[in-house]
Amino acid sequence: MTSTHAFWLAGRQATGEAAFDVTSPWDGRVVGTASVPSDAQVEEAVAAAYAVRDEFAATPAHVRAAALDQVSRRLAERTEEIARLISAESGKPMKWARGEVGRAVSVFRFASEEARRFNGGEAQRLDTDAGGQGRLAFTRRFPKGVVLGIAPFNFPLNLCAHKIAPAIAAGVPIILKPAPATPLSALILGELLAETELPAGSWSILPVPNDRMPALVQDERLPVISFTGSEKVGYAIMDSVPRKHCTLELGGNGAAVVLADWASDEDLDRAAQRIATFSNYQGGQSCISVQRVIADASVYDRLLPRIVAAVEAQVTGDPGDDATDVGPLVSEAAAQRVEAWVQEAVEAGATLLTGGKRDGASYAPTVLTDVPDEVTISCEEVFGPVLTVRKADGEAAAFAAVNDSKYGLQAGVFTHDLQTAFRAHRALEVGGVVVGDVPSYRADQMPYGGAKQSGVGREGVKFAMDDYTYERVMVLTGL
Ligand code: NAD
Repeated sequence: MTSTHAFWLAGRQATGEAAFDVTSPWDGRVVGTASVPSDAQVEEAVAAAYAVRDEFAATPAHVRAAALDQVSRRLAERTEEIARLISAESGKPMKWARGEVGRAVSVFRFASEEARRFNGGEAQRLDTDAGGQGRLAFTRRFPKGVVLGIAPFNFPLNLCAHKIAPAIAAGVPIILKPAPATPLSALILGELLAETELPAGSWSILPVPNDRMPALVQDERLPVISFTGSEKVGYAIMDSVPRKHCTLELGGNGAAVVLADWASDEDLDRAAQRIATFSNYQGGQSCISVQRVIADASVYDRLLPRIVAAVEAQVTGDPGDDATDVGPLVSEAAAQRVEAWVQEAVEAGATLLTGGKRDGASYAPTVLTDVPDEVTISCEEVFGPVLTVRKADGEAAAFAAVNDSKYGLQAGVFTHDLQTAFRAHRALEVGGVVVGDVPSYRADQMPYGGAKQSGVGREGVKFAMDDYTYERVMVLTGL
């Protein structure tokens, strides 16, 4: 027996005529059944969001902040239960699923704090120029309109939190569409939002099937699209609505650079451990997981065996077990794709140092060297537990190798030297440089997003609030 999960239409529970099963990628069991809204129900949600715009924008900051605080507290109270659901529907190991709930707790808390300080207004004197004598400019932010948030499967709770919490903090209604593989974690968030006093219509969570999304994307009542997912789908959406405001948080092929000064045994042990952990966490299905290691030639021979040993020490298996580091990928098809890319690389001359085996949806943590530049795994986002390691002669060559990619999400640079850190910050064409660690670090309040084809715009609670709103100036005359 599995339960049918209702969706959230204008803040209240509803069911449609159709439904689909959500299965565990680990053992194929049905985790739950998600009800699908009809076209009429989607229309009702959009109309309600559109109608409530002014009321929501006028809802006092303390009311919205209190609601966000309440959701944060309730998420914390229900951590274990929600983590189990995330793990069951996505295959994410429990240790990472608990961490994800903890991050969503923080996102709602950050949003409540930002709601309290957002939009105080800023004055600017205009009499710095003769033409502006006697005038003052006063600026506040106003909603661009209802947001359509579209979320991926790999952080099924926290990336939904990153869409919804800033919308509530800024007083902007939102329609959220979770990923088809993992709608249940998003729907449980609806339970917590429904316990608050937010105006009906200000939020909906609708698992709309992909083939019905173009109509929603085109809807003129939804002028802002906040999308997190693949490069292919993100750009197709943006290209289909060139006049809408689109934020795209897309893929990457994160690089970790280990430079010559990161050379003691302790340094290399730490780098290897961090690289092994964050090329494999949640099966490598993170947009900032480590896909490429670029090691200075002077440390390469001592680093490589350490990385292989640390990767082989990763505990694979049932995502429901606390000891598991690496669970399955989201589907067998995803694991087959990774398998094909590794095979292509090996056939083109790459050396397989460990891994390279698939069992259903599970793919063994894998390390490759001597990977030719032109094979798929060198160019595209692998989104699986596969690491390529290469040598670089010096810092400039290492930074050039990082930039030799269409992606530019984040990079990690292992160095102790402050000057090198600043040079990396200047040189690397990415949205974030993490010094002294892997690229796989995201604090939920910092600006986060890509350069190049990793995306457009920035998330991070305050930055998403800016994104959903625009500055409107009022010029006061005769002062
Ligand atoms: P995806 O692009 O397949 O799906 C993302 C969302 O788009 C899902 O909700 C999906 O149902 C929806 N979608 C699919 N077709 C659509 C259409 N025609 N119109 C509107 N919506 C549509 O991505 P995914 O496989 O769920 O997630 C993995 C990708 O997400 C990876 O590329 C990863 O790097 C990226 N990602 C990026 C970030 C970031 O912040 N930069 C974070 C997490 C994941």
